[in-house]
Amino acid sequence: MNIIDIFLYDTTWGFIFEIMIRCFVMFFLILIFLRLSGKRGIRQLSIFEVAIILSLGTAAGDPMIIDDVPIVQAFVVMSTIIILYRLVTWAMMKSEKIELWVEGKPLYIVEDGMMVIQDMKKEKYSHDEFFAEMRQQSVEHLGQVRVALLETDGCLSILFYTEQETKWGLPLFPKAYQKSVHLNTENYYSCMYCGMTQHLLHLEQECPRCHNKDWTESLSVPYIH
Ligand SMILES: [Zn+2]
Repeated sequence: MNIIDIFLYDTTWGFIFEIMIRCFVMFFLILIFLRLSGKRGIRQLSIFEVAIILSLGTAAGDPMIIDDVPIVQAFVVMSTIIILYRLVTWAMMKSEKIELWVEGKPLYIVEDGMMVIQDMKKEKYSHDEFFAEMRQQSVEHLGQVRVALLETDGCLSILFYTEQETKWGLPLFPKAYQKSVHLNTENYYSCMYCGMTQHLLHLEQECPRCHNKDWTESLSVPYIH
């Protein structure tokens, strides 16, 4: 192995100039094709959209740097992908079944201040991911949340309890989310797995919802809009 080969190999000034022209053309082709897809700006992508972006990116990348890939071939690939995209989008509009299959459906993550256990297991998401997502939306504990819905693009939509409706709930920020070691029977405790909240007789008690045995002290501050 020659170290210089890794960086240069047989690159000539002529080919560097060719690469610049290829990048110039492909960059504008990508812009045009993304506009043709009919999408506006992108925040979060569904799996279907990620597939389209990946395919377009692959088709666009090769002719930028591989000298025997002509741009017209990439053009054909990109046109085909956009036609596919338009076809699938059209089919999704016509049939709810196809839409469900391609994009998945929104899932309830939190209901009445507690994690929805079945949906969570089905989706194989980690707690940490949900907790982080809710923290970013200024949720301090689950007792503030009436409903949290996981959208197909990965965003969480949250409905909050009003100040009066706020319950005792599972804290989401790390300093408060600590396993309790001393019991105060006056306090509320929340299951660290599902957010079930109740008084306890002893700390080794099993959660009646999910059989977890880790409890942490609950919070009850309301969410301030
Ligand atoms: Zn539980």
